[in-house]
Amino acid sequence: MPAAEAPPSLEASSPFEMRIKLGEKVPETDVRSALKTGDMGFLHSFTTGSAVDGPGIRLVAWTTACMFRCQFCHNPDTWTLANGIPVTLEHAIEEVQLYANGLKRMRGGFTLSGGEPLMQDRFAARLLRATSGMGVHTALETNGYYGERLSDRELADIDLVILDMKGFTLEQHKRVTGGLGNEPVLEFALRLAALNRPIWLRYVLVPGLTDVDHEMEQLAAFAAALGVVERAEVLPFHQMGRYKWERLGLDYQLDHVAPPSQMAVDHALSIFAGAGLPIQR
Ligand code: SF4
Repeated sequence: MPAAEAPPSLEASSPFEMRIKLGEKVPETDVRSALKTGDMGFLHSFTTGSAVDGPGIRLVAWTTACMFRCQFCHNPDTWTLANGIPVTLEHAIEEVQLYANGLKRMRGGFTLSGGEPLMQDRFAARLLRATSGMGVHTALETNGYYGERLSDRELADIDLVILDMKGFTLEQHKRVTGGLGNEPVLEFALRLAALNRPIWLRYVLVPGLTDVDHEMEQLAAFAAALGVVERAEVLPFHQMGRYKWERLGLDYQLDHVAPPSQMAVDHALSIFAGAGLPIQR
């Protein structure tokens, strides 16, 4: 008889590991209860040692489920909640606790990313609160669409919001994300500004899709006017996620798109810098 395959570890070497159907045996009633209470979350993985997901060295938890279907998404296995490993809140907190002292020593912190973490807003809020209570710097990487699900009090537990913005105009946002508008994202950004909460803005540069000057110009002007954007980042599109699209049988529209040239990246950065935003090269 073949040996049963061991479930993958909660820790992964990178979010580029393909993970599917790890939570599909959780009964529907338990999923509903988890979403309502946050007692349990669904995670693709934890990864350690990231230097790009917030200040310093980061422990990152990658959640599953997302409401967007970005054409350039490099982790489409995180779109579905049931692809994640079911993890109790206590277990997730213990995992952060393991690294808490080291993260503080290295002036790093914990980042909750996804997927879209606010698809599991109760779990996200409680995990971030517990982490903040350990004295560890907290960051939430989000597309902002469900930002209204967090109270002002809960936002106070988050030291940094990394806001992934996909476009400025409604048409462009719908085009990039598979149909959803960005009004809630813009409202969330304005609310963060009103609360004086710091933001790092992220924008993925995809040749032929998001390298649109008037989109970037309007986005940059909007972001600069917020007055709380500490950093604007332009992330060059890459093809590291292509195999996931293929293995999941999804219709990948960017198959023949090459990463942007350095000149194109510099041009995009110059647009954000030109609006007065601090840029990260
Ligand atoms: S918001 Fe992020 S996780 Fe969701 S589809 Fe877009 S790139 Fe993927």
